[in-house]
Amino acid sequence: MTNKIHPTSPLTIIIFFAVIAILMGASLSTVSSPEPVKKVAETKITPPPPAKPPHAAKDKFYAPILMYHHISTTMSAGPYVIRPEIFEKQMAWLKDNKYHVITYAQFYGALTTKTDLPDKSVVLTFDDNDKDQYINALPILKKYGYSGIFYIPTAYVNVRGGVMTWDMLKDLVKNNMEIGAHSSTHPDLRVIPKKQLYDEELTGSKEALQKNLGIEIKFFAYPGGAHSKSIEQAVKDTGFLSAVTTFYTPDHTYDEDPYKISRIYVSNSMDEFADFIVGKNLYKSH
Ligand SMILES: [Zn+2]
Repeated sequence: MTNKIHPTSPLTIIIFFAVIAILMGASLSTVSSPEPVKKVAETKITPPPPAKPPHAAKDKFYAPILMYHHISTTMSAGPYVIRPEIFEKQMAWLKDNKYHVITYAQFYGALTTKTDLPDKSVVLTFDDNDKDQYINALPILKKYGYSGIFYIPTAYVNVRGGVMTWDMLKDLVKNNMEIGAHSSTHPDLRVIPKKQLYDEELTGSKEALQKNLGIEIKFFAYPGGAHSKSIEQAVKDTGFLSAVTTFYTPDHTYDEDPYKISRIYVSNSMDEFADFIVGKNLYKSH
């Protein structure tokens, strides 16, 4: 028992420092020799550089903006009507495939400040204030912790059936959803009188949302995707920062016009959905 060296005995400590001294001497002796040894040691302690998003380039960034309308169990399915169970599968797919659902404000921020978004960013947009979005999409969005932007034609709120009420819209805001304007009466903005365009469809919808929801409304969606140079200018004149179209590409450029932002259609087929996300075989409209 007395022959055993106790782990903390002075002898152990002396042996420990002796070993360290020998090792240091050995490494010092290699300093003047050519680099290979030193290089290996350095790469071991240097943390790897942060990963660059694969799609990020100097002038281009990948961030598909998905366009949803009805999320319905009853209407006939198509690009404007997605089944709730398919919608849930799509949200699960985004999660499983490591996509990041970002807000439109984040997208707009990246566009205007020319900064990178998280790798595989996606924006979810919902048009037309369909009540089934509240009933069928909101619970799924909450379940996944995702946010989307809802573009609202304001003239029909609390007037027509089948659309979200102001209370439902307030609930969306409370659940971290974004709200954008989608005009007042959803006309083809290119064919209406200028006064109606400015006062009712643009300023009117913006102010109705701001007054009833108590939030600033910065973003717009052209009804039917229909727009022109003068409509874009009117949207800008009335204080909107950006507007979405139904152009179709998942990629964006940093010099893209913020009043002509492309979106892509969705599908009830999961194979098509996966294709659309990367820009393959997109449904095309305007
Ligand atoms: Zn619409």
